[in-house]
Amino acid sequence: MRIGQGIDVHVFGPGDHVMLGGVAVPHTHGLVAHSDGDVVIHALCDALLGALALGDIGIHFPPSDPRWKDVSSRHFLLHCAALVSERGYALANADVTIVCERPKIAPHVEAMRRNLATDLGCAIGDVSVKATTSEKLGFTGRGEGIAAFAVVLLQRSRAPTTVAPDDPVLRELVTRAELDPQS
Ligand SMILES: [Zn+2]
Repeated sequence: MRIGQGIDVHVFGPGDHVMLGGVAVPHTHGLVAHSDGDVVIHALCDALLGALALGDIGIHFPPSDPRWKDVSSRHFLLHCAALVSERGYALANADVTIVCERPKIAPHVEAMRRNLATDLGCAIGDVSVKATTSEKLGFTGRGEGIAAFAVVLLQRSRAPTTVAPDDPVLRELVTRAELDPQS
């Protein structure tokens, strides 16, 4: 099993909606970002990459790369989900907490969970999205932006496909080590 955590923050700017968990939530502001500023998905991606010890979303999708300008963050999530499965893991569960005063998150939570579960290829019951305010304290409390925190647990589903050595004896050893329930 492997655990990972991710944190993301974006500041409010001009706009009429914020993208959260792939859902366009109507708001008096948008979020300033190179991509669509989806803090839920960015935090989740960082948690998945963290669990795999594969760096962070900035390494995989550099903001300096024009390819990622205004792209849907669900693209990033699909990429991270593919890395998880490529390395022989499956999501056990994910838990995301959104911190903001407004907009109201609760009416959109189920749609977010559906989107995330679809992209991660897991059951909706394995993905939790919840929200809290920071009691008017700090930058989220002052309504300057939105923060999201994510935790994921990955479980071994099979031997990884990317590190299979050519030598059959070595391959057997690696496979046995990878399948070790202790790992
Ligand atoms: Zn972000």
